[in-house]
Amino acid sequence: MELRKDPITQSWVAVGHRDEAPSAPEGCLLCPGQEAATSSLLTIPPQGSWRIRVIPHSDPLYHIEGNLGRQADGIYDTMQSIGAHEVIVETAEHNQRLSQLSDEGIEEVLFAYASRIADLKRDSRFKYVAVFKNQGTLSGEEWTHSHSQLTATTFVPRRVKYELHAAREWFEQKERCVFCDIVRQEEKSGKRVVDTQADYVALCPFASRVPFEVWLLRRKHNHLFEQPQPGSNRLHFATLLGRVLRRLEKVSAAYHLVVHTAPNTRNPKGRLEHYWQTLADDYHWHIEILPIVQSVSKSYSIKEVYFNALLPELAAEHLRKLDPNA
Ligand SMILES: [Zn+2]
Ligand SMILES: [Zn+2]
Ligand SMILES: [Zn+2]
Repeated sequence: MELRKDPITQSWVAVGHRDEAPSAPEGCLLCPGQEAATSSLLTIPPQGSWRIRVIPHSDPLYHIEGNLGRQADGIYDTMQSIGAHEVIVETAEHNQRLSQLSDEGIEEVLFAYASRIADLKRDSRFKYVAVFKNQGTLSGEEWTHSHSQLTATTFVPRRVKYELHAAREWFEQKERCVFCDIVRQEEKSGKRVVDTQADYVALCPFASRVPFEVWLLRRKHNHLFEQPQPGSNRLHFATLLGRVLRRLEKVSAAYHLVVHTAPNTRNPKGRLEHYWQTLADDYHWHIEILPIVQSVSKSYSIKEVYFNALLPELAAEHLRKLDPNA
């Protein structure tokens, strides 16, 4: 497999076959008892029965060893699919969903996300570390056992790149973070706010791409998910995330969740590239959740323009009224 860059959109695409997957063991690979089949990158707690385990993906999209092998083929750019691909097993219980963990349990999962991101960012080859979760058959989940995935890539994925460019432009013009501006305006109007907990807000974005799309943000500015500021209590964030997921599961069993954090600015020459100069001020980490609502999923097209049949204001109102604890 190799990575090819589209010269127009500048996005990297992994093309070719995945390597032959090793034969899967009997039963669930993510359940306790399979520890011998997989090496562990992080185990919580380190001794005794674990609650969370991070393991290398058994059929990875990216491989950790090797050179980038950047090459030009005429006008085209290619590189080897170097990177990391990990699986974060969120619970030892096969049938327990993330939304069913205690607030402390969810906080621990967020801690596992953060420590893996921070660890992989120490490798200057990796420009971005993405954490995402696909839940439900419609989302293309790989195992039914509750898990998230992480990829470290030698490039910044396209959607994040768009966000970074837009955030930098906004900051250039207004000297304010666009995400902080969004949170302020949304809290003032309240129309699209789903729920809040201490410093954290969940809202349906103004231009939601799919029905019941929800973003979770912190009111106070911080560009790095993996580096909580002193005094930011992640338990509150975990509490909010749990409630939002339990609300969403009442309208849709499947969803995509993605953590957006700032890219890795560490570079081998040890200096900050010009375009990252204002990054710490202009970018703001957040989580996006895109539910897959079957009955209306046909309504948005693949023609690069989203058509969302449900007004975000109505979606937020509906989600607000649902009892996350019932
Ligand atoms: Zn399992
Ligand atoms: Zn901000
Ligand atoms: Zn985002």
